[in-house]
Formats: sequence, structure tokens, C-alpha cells
Amino acid sequence: MTKLIDPFARPISYLRVSVTDRCDFRCTYCMAEHMQFLPKKDLLTLEELDRLCSTFIRLGVEKLRITGGEPLVRRDIMTFFKTIARHLDTGALKELTLTTNGSQLARFAAELAAIGIRRVNVSLDTLDAAKFQAITRWGRLPQVLEGIEAAQKSGLRVKINTVALKGFNEEELFPLLDWCASEGHDLTFIEVMPMGEMGEEMRLDQYWPLKDLRARLAERFTLTDLAERSGGPARYVRIEETGQKVGFITPLTHNFCESCNRVRVTCTGELFMCLGQEDNADLRAPLRASSEDDLLEQAIRAAISRKPKGHDFDYSRQSVKGQMSRHMSHTGG
Ligand code: SAM
Ligand code: SF4
Repeated sequence: MTKLIDPFARPISYLRVSVTDRCDFRCTYCMAEHMQFLPKKDLLTLEELDRLCSTFIRLGVEKLRITGGEPLVRRDIMTFFKTIARHLDTGALKELTLTTNGSQLARFAAELAAIGIRRVNVSLDTLDAAKFQAITRWGRLPQVLEGIEAAQKSGLRVKINTVALKGFNEEELFPLLDWCASEGHDLTFIEVMPMGEMGEEMRLDQYWPLKDLRARLAERFTLTDLAERSGGPARYVRIEETGQKVGFITPLTHNFCESCNRVRVTCTGELFMCLGQEDNADLRAPLRASSEDDLLEQAIRAAISRKPKGHDFDYSRQSVKGQMSRHMSHTGG
């Protein structure tokens, strides 16, 4: 079995799959308040998701991240997790993980840990309950904090993902950092990306470049760059005073494409070879055309042979060149 390698000799070892476009929150940078969600028939079924992920694993994917929308609001999603976890048992899959808003973790953390999940990423932009409600519109902070606690109690490592938003959580930088240090969570900041159809003005207003955030951190702490790379857009520093590791995901200002080992699949089975480009391949049709996986494998191989060298976001001239019209909740962040 030849493993997936793209035209630039990058092995494809990391797959992110969105299992739903739905969510119990309405974060302002991610969704409109009133969203039109997809009809159920358009979504991959749990069985189709399993076939799709298993095929990628057979072709060399070793790390699988489940996302959404909010993955834990998909009906029966634990059935999917339990089934796909068989690849952890065989050793074919090295890591199975998820990105979640944390709202359902109190309910599911123990089960997730029991099937072999070791880490979860939880998105949390503020520790202020009123601000949390404002940014998520429908979210409630205590529920998420309870979820995080349940995850920890179950033995899951928690990484907090915080979207850096100018005029919103600039003052939260040090409180968040202190809280993560005291709770033992890793912390990664994400630069806000030009997704969806929110007004251009609003996004540019909210754009807080991580180099500015980093400079703010450096006023108080000694930062050491770490060589560690994940094959994705994250870069890490160690805060010498606390020993904490902090990540920065800067898809807009830094080029991380040369080491890109990842692709993503939407909840409708579109394979995106690059987060920043529209080119995609429909995997739902081959999934539904045959109960064997040959057509699916051919479609995946054909798509990977088109994986582009890099992407084209550019905020530097205060324009949104390269803007993507899809929402993160659709492609899966
Ligand atoms: N619902 C889950 C969650 O919030 O973690 C998983 C899906 S969410 C789309 C995945 C990640 O994308 C979250 O960390 C979220 O903060 C981030 N995200 C959503 N919209 C974004 C945007 N416009 N720019 C940068 N990050 C964004
Ligand atoms: Fe939901 Fe996550 Fe998007 Fe927030 S960022 S609306 S929690 S999918």
C-alpha cells in the first residue's frame, strides 16, 4: 500500500474531520446568530465517516482530529469515537483527538478517556463570564469550566485555544496565562482568520496580530523559541519564568506551508487540501457510489496529487485578499 505523499514530497499524516456544521454556541467570529444548517442527508453518516477515516488511516494518516461545528453535539458521536478507536488499538493511529467548545465535556470526558483519547483542545477566549456570553452568544462559562474540570479528572490533557481579538481579550492575556499555569493546561493563541461573510471592517477591527500579543508577553516574561513543529501553523515558545509552553497559530502572517502534513474533510465529505484555498474534492460521491473503498481511495489519491504548495491570506495591506467565503464551522477549525 503506497502512502499518501503530495507533489511537494510532504507525507499526509494528519487528518481533520468535521462531523457536523451545528453548534450549541454562536461565536461571533465563527457563525451568524441565525444559521441555516445543512439537511441531514447532506452530512456523512457515522458509517461513512468511519469508512472515510479508516481509508485515510490505511493510506498513512496517523493523527486524526475530530472537529465541527461542535463535534460533541452530533447525535451518537460516541458510537463513532468508540468504533474509530480500534485503529488506536492496532497502532495504525497514533493519536485520536478532538477540538471542542467544552460544553458537553462534563457528560463525555470519561468515555472519551476510556477509549484511548489522551488530549482535547478546548476553545476559550475569556475567563470573564459576561464577556464569554457576549463572544459565544449562547455559551455559558461555568458549563465549560465544569467540562474542563471533568476532562482533567478523567485524565485528559487539556489545551486551551484562544482566539486573539483586539478590543476584546487583550486584558485577558495574563489572567488566562496564569489560570492555564495553575491548572496545568497548555495554551495556544490563534490569530483571527477571514472566514465567512462577516463584514470586512469588523474583522480588520478585531485583528490582533500575534506578533503584538507576543511583544506584550515579552514585556513581562522571557520567551524562548522552541524548535518544536507540529507540521501545522503552530509555533511554540517557553516562558522561562513559569516553564509554560505557549503556542501561536498565525495562519495570516506566517508561511507554514512548507511543512504542511495535513488535509481536512468537511461534514459533507469535501476534502480540502489547503485551508487557504478553495480547491476541493468530493469524497461523498465515491463513498455513496460503492460499498467498497476503491473509488474513495482513488478520489483521495487524485486530490492529494493536487495539494497546492501554499496559501494566500494577506492582511498586510489592510485588505482581505485571499478571503475565504466558507465558515470555520463548515470546514472545521
Ligand atoms: N466548536 C469547536 C470549538 O469551538 O473548539 C470546534 C470547531 S471551531 C470552528 C474550531 C476552532 O476554530 C476554535 O478554536 C475557534 O476558536 C476557531 N475559529 C472559529 N472561527 C475562527 C476565525 N474566524 N478565526 C480564527 N479561529 C476561528
Ligand atoms: Fe461553535 Fe466552535 Fe464556531 Fe464557537 S468556534 S460557534 S463553539 S463551532
